[in-house]
Amino acid sequence: MSGVITAEIRCDTPPNEHHAVFSLYSAGIQFFITASPQEFSRTIARFVKDRGDILPTTHVIHGSHTFFDSIHTLLTEQIASSGRSIYCTTGCSACCKQVILSNPFEAALIGFNLARDKEKLERFLERYAGWDAETKAMRSRFPGWAARRALHGVDDGSFDQMEFTAHCPFLADDLCQIYPWRPYGCRSYLALSESCIRPREPGQRPGRQGMGIGMSTSFHQRRQQLLGLLWQAFGVDPAKTRGHFLPDLVKHFLDGDIAGLLARCRLP
Ligand code: SF4
Repeated sequence: MSGVITAEIRCDTPPNEHHAVFSLYSAGIQFFITASPQEFSRTIARFVKDRGDILPTTHVIHGSHTFFDSIHTLLTEQIASSGRSIYCTTGCSACCKQVILSNPFEAALIGFNLARDKEKLERFLERYAGWDAETKAMRSRFPGWAARRALHGVDDGSFDQMEFTAHCPFLADDLCQIYPWRPYGCRSYLALSESCIRPREPGQRPGRQGMGIGMSTSFHQRRQQLLGLLWQAFGVDPAKTRGHFLPDLVKHFLDGDIAGLLARCRLP
């Protein structure tokens, strides 16, 4: 868990931009407290003027991450005080060798912060090239499979998440290089069994026996609503969207291809 401020206000940020960052960041927190879609959408509409400008949404996602981290802290403290062990430790990357799906807004938050750290950016681009080559054939089967599953409820077996074992390109020396900005899926994961690190059953993979802590709270459902409202701000029906590979999305953001970034997450 991290309470690190990511898209922080810098001293060279003009005053009117301070206002925008605070308003959007607060909206990302407030939505989980007051649950007012109208108020939230009004705030977003004030700042997302152009459908190519995804940056305002990064502050909203940052706010929602901050709120989620506080829930995560409370729940993990409760779990620990009930006597259960938590097996997530610094340097364990068991859950970082699988499909990590995300959305354009989380990807923009990561890309925005990555672009400000030359060393991490170069490291990512180098690792991304390897990941891209290693997984290209498998990833090419994903959009069709995901669309058939989402639209017709059919898993035709053309894509199998269990076969995907590539290391996340944000992982270096078993540490997440974007830890403060990592997506909700990674933030939410909690290993409550040693078998997450060392599976006992044949055929089990490391990093897949934990729980998504967000799923056990109303946060998850509320977050889906928040993402839906962000999609609507870009003129997209949220029911026609799906997750896509996080590294690909971040690469689109870094390339300045916002249309491609949004298109990757749309169903046909
Ligand atoms: S983003 Fe970070 S935490 Fe998530 S899979 Fe990649 S390296 Fe692991």
